[in-house]
Amino acid sequence: MSSDPRFTAMPDANGYFGPYGGQLVPPHLKQAMDDINLAYEEIRQREDFQQELAALFADYVGRPSPIFHARRLSEQLGGAQIHLKREDLNHTGAHKINHCLGEALLARFMGKTKVIAETGAGQHGVALATACALVGIPCEIHMGQVDIEKEHPNVTKMKILGCKLVAVTRGAATLKEAVDSAFEEYLKDPQNYLYAIGSVVGPHPFPKMVRDFQSIIGQEARGQFLARHGRLPDQVVACVGGGSNAMGIFTAFLEDAAVELVGIEPAGESLDKPGRHSATLSKGKPGELHGMACYVLEDAEGNPSAVHSIASGLDYPGVGPQHSYLKDIGRVNYQTATDQECLDAFMTLSRVEGIIPALESAHAVAWAIRTAPTLGKDSHILVNLSGRGDKDADYVAKLLGL
Ligand SMILES: *Cc1c(COP(=O)(O)O)cnc(C)c1O
Repeated sequence: MSSDPRFTAMPDANGYFGPYGGQLVPPHLKQAMDDINLAYEEIRQREDFQQELAALFADYVGRPSPIFHARRLSEQLGGAQIHLKREDLNHTGAHKINHCLGEALLARFMGKTKVIAETGAGQHGVALATACALVGIPCEIHMGQVDIEKEHPNVTKMKILGCKLVAVTRGAATLKEAVDSAFEEYLKDPQNYLYAIGSVVGPHPFPKMVRDFQSIIGQEARGQFLARHGRLPDQVVACVGGGSNAMGIFTAFLEDAAVELVGIEPAGESLDKPGRHSATLSKGKPGELHGMACYVLEDAEGNPSAVHSIASGLDYPGVGPQHSYLKDIGRVNYQTATDQECLDAFMTLSRVEGIIPALESAHAVAWAIRTAPTLGKDSHILVNLSGRGDKDADYVAKLLGL
């Protein structure tokens, strides 16, 4: 590897990616975050930790996940070859298990007595409850009452997995209130609890740590692609909510200048309807959210904006600090796909390849479907298929009257 200073040694010692990131938290929390960073830097160097995580990735998650050449889809589109990195085949059905295992092992190493998190649609909650069951650490998930009623299968799974589910009834009783509630619980004893953040967001060291745990995706994909094709793909594409699956696959390709990296944000109903999309990098501006400096979508009063996407895992008014930086330096091309394009891609991939993608991942598939016809047949697009669509099947069937 060469060593382009724009990519190596990121973030700096204070958790900054250029002007983004940092630890924008009160002093007593800064201490807790510094402790997590020290512990993380220690275990990541340790052979026993690396071996344990590698063994779990192989035997528990089912890694390496394969790359599938979507031949029929590519032929139908008549342009570039589309390939899918199959994170949907992981245990629990998405990429999130990669960093949840890392966080659970870190919690055990630090002697934490409880792991706490919020969940919206329940994907992060299920992945974390799974990892905590495996590692043997009590887990407490805060979830809005409205989401609990909407997301029954995930709620049931979390209960079966033995986590304590806290129903949050205040305010709108959705994700924001769940974050507030989970954070209040964490503040009761930051020394003994770990707040397990579900993406490459929040105060330092979480954007770095979650990225590192997810970077297995790109390490595998780069090697797999080279071995099979003797070259790298022309484009690597991933959906961007907080940005963890995207950083997971992008990191290994950052220094390959010839590989175009494309991050797809949700344009929801329309980029022209404030509050009805969640395209933070495309329509937001630099600000602060949840302990970090990053791009933020704001309303007229300067508060974090209401957001929407057909994919509940993508509706966040902030985005990871490294993505904010990669946008500014132009290394990643951030584009969008609408709810409708996402639905179309969801159905197309299901019917042409027999793969039902998560609605989140379908945003990246939508970009590939839009772009492939504009490229030659010897071009290659690698899509990170971050998760499977079981969780979305009933919703889509109802929406389309199937
Ligand atoms: C949670 C989720 C996402 C969005 O999170 P990122 O941190 O942006 O990756 C994407 N895909 C799936 C399948 C998810 O569950």
